[in-house]
Amino acid sequence: MSPGTSAPAPPVHLKFIGKNTFQRELRTRIDAYFTRTGRRKRDCWQMYLKTALLLTSFFGLYVLLVFFMPTWWLAVPVAIALGLVTAGIGMNVQHDGSHHAYSDRPWINRVMAMTLEMIGGSSYLWHYQHGVFHHTYTNITGHDGDVDVGIFGRLTPHQKRLPFHRWQHLYMWLLYGFVAIRWHLWGDLSDIIFGKSGEHPIPRPKGWDLVQFIAGKVFFISLVFVVPMLFHPWWVVLLFYVLAASVVGIVLTVVFQLAHAVEGAEFTIPDGDSGRIDNAWAIHQAESTVDFARGNRIAAYLLGGLNFQIEHHLFPRICHINYPALSKIVEQTCHDFGVKYNEHRTFAAGVASHYRWLRYLGRADTAVV
Ligand SMILES: [Zn+2]
Repeated sequence: MSPGTSAPAPPVHLKFIGKNTFQRELRTRIDAYFTRTGRRKRDCWQMYLKTALLLTSFFGLYVLLVFFMPTWWLAVPVAIALGLVTAGIGMNVQHDGSHHAYSDRPWINRVMAMTLEMIGGSSYLWHYQHGVFHHTYTNITGHDGDVDVGIFGRLTPHQKRLPFHRWQHLYMWLLYGFVAIRWHLWGDLSDIIFGKSGEHPIPRPKGWDLVQFIAGKVFFISLVFVVPMLFHPWWVVLLFYVLAASVVGIVLTVVFQLAHAVEGAEFTIPDGDSGRIDNAWAIHQAESTVDFARGNRIAAYLLGGLNFQIEHHLFPRICHINYPALSKIVEQTCHDFGVKYNEHRTFAAGVASHYRWLRYLGRADTAVV
């Protein structure tokens, strides 16, 4: 997502202050859980199986779509399914790999992270955009790119309201469809050209990182445009690309928005001059994040544990397969330390809360900070 109307300028270096007793106790309890159960933090067999299923489905659906579809009306559901599986690879395989949560072996994490190149992104840029900026400065306006959609919408109370935001609760859902297309065709390229993500400077890739970036883009463009255009008219290829990529954009964006841009999530403002945040890092992570549908095992499996975002933000290097079990310990520890633990019981409740949050921030009488 792009920089836009956000207020504070990022070059100020942010510092979390506050006691780390909550984090220390939480770590002790989580480590005790793994010792007691003998479960693995990473290299879980379920992840390897899931990865095989997702990658086989991806290439199977691609071959079916490009080479074996007799009519357009059969091709449409296959393109939608391909979009869903692509989002599934992003949420399950790439996300764990990029966070070093997949395996204890760094090369396996790197290979899994590179599935992002396969689906049109850049694992090099993701490390900064998501792993560093979003995960450190969660929900802090001007620092967390995930809650910044430029002039198109107002997702935090500290962004400027524009008159057309009064309809954002209606139109944003459609705009989410363009998020993946923007990454593919412009977002990553602009971050490399300008050497920054939002207002945060990022080092341009060099050596193998640069080779991987270019090779990834060439592979994706060949897979999505060049090969299909050898067999179909260009406009048909473009239409099906927009359909599948919109599904990817909507699924990924909605899942991430339900974790942060909803009622109950905290939106902290750092001290302007010193960049000081009067909270411990772990408490900030828990209170700026919201879980949803924790009781739904199917949702947890398909969404790569991203409905357990509190657990993910506190333990990004633990494989998401473990999150349902960890959430009970995290919730109890939050309760013991008086830390807010926000959740929506169902996916629908999360969607409704995001809708209300957008409507609230779009109103003219909502306070502008
Ligand atoms: Zn993450």
